[in-house]
Order: sequence, then C-alpha cells, then structure tokens
Amino acid sequence: MNKVRMATVWLDGCSGCHMSFLDIDERLLALADKIDLVYSPLVDYKEFPPDVDLTLVEGAVSSEEDLEKIQRVRQRTNLLIALGDCAVNGNVPSMRNAVGAQAVLERAYLEEGLLDRAIPQRGVPPLLPTVLPVHVVVPVDLFVPGCPPPADAIYYVLTQLLEGKEPDLSSMTRFGK
Ligand code: SF4
Repeated sequence: MNKVRMATVWLDGCSGCHMSFLDIDERLLALADKIDLVYSPLVDYKEFPPDVDLTLVEGAVSSEEDLEKIQRVRQRTNLLIALGDCAVNGNVPSMRNAVGAQAVLERAYLEEGLLDRAIPQRGVPPLLPTVLPVHVVVPVDLFVPGCPPPADAIYYVLTQLLEGKEPDLSSMTRFGK
C-alpha cells in the first residue's frame, strides 16, 4: 500500500504545535508505517514538493514569505489542516494588529539602548500590514484548535484521516481542552 505523503509547515508560530505533534511519542512509530514525511522543519527537505496528500500548518500568515509559502503549499496539497490557534485565528502573532507592523519593528530594532539600531533591510522578510489566520489567505479543509492542540487530538485527527474518516472535533474536552 502506498504511504500517505504528509508535510508540516511552520509559519508565524512558536513551534509549540510541532512540539505537540512530537508528543505523540511512541505512536509516531505506528504513524511512520503509513506516512512519508515529505517536507517539514523536522526533516531536511528544502523544497515543498508537489502532490502532497495532507499538510499540517502551524502559525499565522505574518510576512510576505509566509504568504508566498502558504499559497504554494495550498496549490500542492490535497488536504490542508490549520493546526493550532495561530493558524486557526491568528492568536499570539495577531496581537500586533492592534499597533501595526511599523510599531513592532521600531520596538524590536530602534529601541534606545540597542546597539546598531536599524530596521534590517535584508534577511528579514517584509511584514504584512496585518497578521492573518490561514483560512483568510487560502482555503482550509480542517481546523484543529488549541494552543497547542493536545497530542492526543493530533493523533486522533491523523488516524481518522488515515482510515478515510472525517475527524469529529466538535468537542475538544475529551482531549483535556
Ligand atoms: S497555537 Fe500556541 S503553541 Fe501553536 S504556534 Fe501558536 S502560540 Fe505556539
């Protein structure tokens, strides 16, 4: 049987959702029999490949780089899953929407007392004026809330999908949320 081609993507998030994915612990071995991880910050592939069956997306869309990446990922993915509150609703990264991108850059790079005060022109992707949840930018097929979503919820979603079923996330309480 062909393995499911799976990817995980990290946009503007803290990596906590990926840590929760890893907290599946030994059950990852059972998943590994059914999944090929074809792109992820957890592996060393550099380019997001075509024909991906399912992608977990952590983080909000905050920069031009995030925007280009999620559009490419959407084009190349059959099932796109917003993983965690930053991807689902903007969560922590969207707190900057109240003050604007410029104020954040000035706070980070021009604050008095910093050495070499200057907003970097290279190496830092330009910020979007507003931080956006993933579904505002591209269609999302499934939302898995939580900050981070519990490992049990991630495992439940993946195993349901691998069995060809639609996960029922109407109640997260059974995962301790
Ligand atoms: S949802 Fe929470 S754990 Fe996940 S990336 Fe955002 S802040 Fe981190």
